[in-house]
Amino acid sequence: MRWPFARAARAPIDRSDWIDDQGWGTVVGAQPFLARLDGDASRRLRAACGAFLATKAVNGAGGLVVTDAMVARIATQACLPILELGVETYPTFAEIIVYPDDFIVDRQIVDEDGVVHAWTEAIAGESWDDGPVVLAWDAAERDAKAKRPSPFAFNVVIHEFAHKLDMNNGAVDGMPSFSRALHRGLEPARWLDVLASSFDDFAGRVEAVERSIPRNVDPESARADRWYATLPLDPYAANDEGEFFSVTSEAFFVAPGRLHEAYPDWYALLRAYYRQDPLSGLRPSAPR
Ligand SMILES: [Zn+2]
Repeated sequence: MRWPFARAARAPIDRSDWIDDQGWGTVVGAQPFLARLDGDASRRLRAACGAFLATKAVNGAGGLVVTDAMVARIATQACLPILELGVETYPTFAEIIVYPDDFIVDRQIVDEDGVVHAWTEAIAGESWDDGPVVLAWDAAERDAKAKRPSPFAFNVVIHEFAHKLDMNNGAVDGMPSFSRALHRGLEPARWLDVLASSFDDFAGRVEAVERSIPRNVDPESARADRWYATLPLDPYAANDEGEFFSVTSEAFFVAPGRLHEAYPDWYALLRAYYRQDPLSGLRPSAPR
């Protein structure tokens, strides 16, 4: 598919010296969930970002001018999940498109009677199979400047790139492909088992919360937030197993405590898959 939006093309960046020491320090310092990385991990993340940016262009759309700081922020968040897997784990898509804020997409389904239902949706991020990752910069920054602090660990960049990993072997179903060299201990059957039981449990929790919201409170409104806040994860994870994988990947990297507490077996599988343990590596003094 072709993207009809006018935007200034930004060429992929050379992997060497894509950022200077001071710039790197600023990027890492601005993202508390990177504080757990030691000097070696930080150096490897920096190199991974360079390799990533050498093959992927970050382009603005909808009038957004992409700055170096935005590129650095997106690259670090995209590369954190594959720090121990290798940049080549991401499929061959070449473009990341960034909108200033939530963007409108056209949706269409044909129901069983052959009737076409079409509607539009405002979304914060999207991953196309074999196509670009599309992000809303506002969403990427939302957590930092939210008026209503969210109890959940939002990170739209990690979310969309987790979908990319999930797509490596076809469907977005919460089952990424395992590498023979890196994932020797990971059994697909065990993964699917724990995924199904964790997802079912969480979907049940979301239903229970929805039932508990009083009838005079719109469940889509901010007033309903305090009911959803009792959940261990963003309720969006209850959509399907693919969203469960992406939402729990966000939580795993950004604020792993609640995820580990609620779903320790699933956390252990994510730890084995990503080959990182954000929980044990987090410094107790790290903010948030
Ligand atoms: Zn998603």
